[in-house]
Amino acid sequence: MEMISHMATKTALVTGILGQDGAYLAQLLLDRGYKVYGLSPRRSNAEASLARLEWLGISDQVELLDGDLTDLSSLVRHITRIQPDEVYNLGAQSFVQTSWEQPLLTGQVTGIGAANVLEAVRLVAPHARYYQASTSEMYGLIQEPMQSETTPFYPRSPYAAAKLYAHWMTVNYRESFGMYACSGILFNHESPLRGLEFVTRKVTDAVARIKLGQQSELRLGNIDAKRDWGHARDYVKAMWLMLQQDQPDDFVIATGRTTTVRDMCRIAFEHVGLDMDDYVVIDPEFFRPAEVDVLLGNPAKAQEKLGWTPETTLEEMICEMVDADIARLLALQVQAD
Ligand code: NDP
Ligand code: GDP
Repeated sequence: MEMISHMATKTALVTGILGQDGAYLAQLLLDRGYKVYGLSPRRSNAEASLARLEWLGISDQVELLDGDLTDLSSLVRHITRIQPDEVYNLGAQSFVQTSWEQPLLTGQVTGIGAANVLEAVRLVAPHARYYQASTSEMYGLIQEPMQSETTPFYPRSPYAAAKLYAHWMTVNYRESFGMYACSGILFNHESPLRGLEFVTRKVTDAVARIKLGQQSELRLGNIDAKRDWGHARDYVKAMWLMLQQDQPDDFVIATGRTTTVRDMCRIAFEHVGLDMDDYVVIDPEFFRPAEVDVLLGNPAKAQEKLGWTPETTLEEMICEMVDADIARLLALQVQAD
């Protein structure tokens, strides 16, 4: 009996489940009937760590496992026990700017951490399907105006260099050991659950505060940078689709449209009837030692082979984020009263 129920229910392990993508992916997997486990590194403020899963109303539906990407023994122990059908490696030190301050930690977590998960899978669950969260940052100093799976990489930060190592380890484990391992090269994707340090959420949070009279200016760095921004909710579908194919492969996931930080910011301010020029201050503190000036992805392969297309426009997403930030701040005000 137990075996039958195991066959009917697929099991997934998600590292980085407490982050933006981990939360949306967990929701998608639960909707599809998976048993979802999440790796949860110890943090002193465990309650705050659950905020994203709580926001989606799923914190009591996933099982968290105490473990860390840098601790191979924790990965081996959990993967041996739960024997996942699918492993999504989303855990990382994921903020580019921080990677210059903590380059070695970024290498350990974002690079070696992926190798640890691949090794654990290879050792104790070699039939599990593996997804690696790769990034458009690997294209860095772009070698082609529109980046696809065949565009050469040129990483421009310790984060991108660490991700490139993880990407090639994924390809290598597929080719060396016949593992079903996929690398999803995802362009920037955002949502109301995006970390506050990333530029979209920094902007939408500031716009909400300015609108509510809690803040008077917004300090930004290089607003001429261009990104191909999509919605995290759309992008986690592509991760899942990659692991449902006959053969493992690598895919670019993007919208095919690029926008400056300035124009993204303008959308946010205009949504609440304000002019960004009255509030934005350029601050050298937020410029980077090396910049990725422009990213623009070509999602043709994903469209053709996975049947995946982005569903949310940049305008819809930014407005959703501003509205969510306003609602969040108003709820805090009510609590304080
Ligand atoms: P987040 O930063 O929101 O989530 C990453 C999660 O990994 C966090 O919950 C973090 O926990 C956790 N983590 C950090 N260190 C460790 C560790 N040592 N062991 C286990 N877990 C750890 O990122 P996103 O959800 O936005 O992104 C998901 C993945 O996709 C990341 O790998 C990211 O680099 C990659 N990616 C993201 C893109 C995007 O635009 N969002 C684009 C392309 C790739 P804590 O916060 O407590 O440190
Ligand atoms: P990234 O593409 O993973 O680095 O995502 P971010 O959201 O952190 O940054 C996107 C772009 O916005 C980069 O080119 C940054 O240089 C630019 N940017 C401009 N001002 C800021 C800022 O204040 N914070 C952040 N995070 N990025 C900024």
